[in-house]
Amino acid sequence: MTSQATENTTHRGGRTLRIAHLYPELLNLYGDSGNILCLRRRMEWRGITPDVMEVHVDDTPSFSGVDIAFIGGGSDREQRIVCDKLLAEQAEIRAFVEDGGVLAAVCGGYQLLGSSYLMADERVEGLSLVDLYTDHGDPRLIGNIVVESSISPQPIVGYENHAGRTHLGEGVTPLGRVLYGHGNDGVTGYEGVLYKNVVGTYVHGPLLPKNPGVADYLIARSMERKYGTTELEPLDDTEELAANQVMYHRLMAGEVQE
Ligand code: GLN
Repeated sequence: MTSQATENTTHRGGRTLRIAHLYPELLNLYGDSGNILCLRRRMEWRGITPDVMEVHVDDTPSFSGVDIAFIGGGSDREQRIVCDKLLAEQAEIRAFVEDGGVLAAVCGGYQLLGSSYLMADERVEGLSLVDLYTDHGDPRLIGNIVVESSISPQPIVGYENHAGRTHLGEGVTPLGRVLYGHGNDGVTGYEGVLYKNVVGTYVHGPLLPKNPGVADYLIARSMERKYGTTELEPLDDTEELAANQVMYHRLMAGEVQE
């Protein structure tokens, strides 16, 4: 594991948040790593020190001291390698989640949260952190996506590309409602999942830079757990919100050829 604590750990208030980036070399489709960069910058701009720890394939992941864990998406082959690694640490990951640890999981990473997913015709056991499971279907669900969600003041915009169809258990809260695109299964109109401080989603793109509301939700939840406060210094998000709004309006107006 490589920890990249910034040299200055005495920012205003001396607050530090540790981000565990799980398997960046395996699960990094469509710029998923940009999500880490975004979290890091939004913390630094507020005087919170980000301590980014990359968990690589030969490491034994430890969640002790972790405030935000992030897992991206990847091919079925890479997803399977990661699944086997994480299953060995299932109890520790479950304890982290049940204790309110913040976990953001995109696409292939999202599918691992459930009890199982289908890889070709093989049903692969997942981490069973959240009551959901994933089948796959034809065609792949590919394209731009817009989601309305309670965790973000702006619509969440991004890109999805998955064969998986994810089914939420009875009473499980989705991340939001699909306004454009496919989401969990292309049928129910739901996208992603919210469970405790876990956010699972099919939105790549990367998710956080164009959706600062989601980034701040993750930071606020981890600040609350560690420091007992959800108050975040406001940032000038003119550029981020412009990117978000352009994508939202163009998609909703039917101006984008898929
Ligand atoms: N392999 C999975 C699927 O196609 C996840 C793909 C991804 O992470 N984009 O459903």
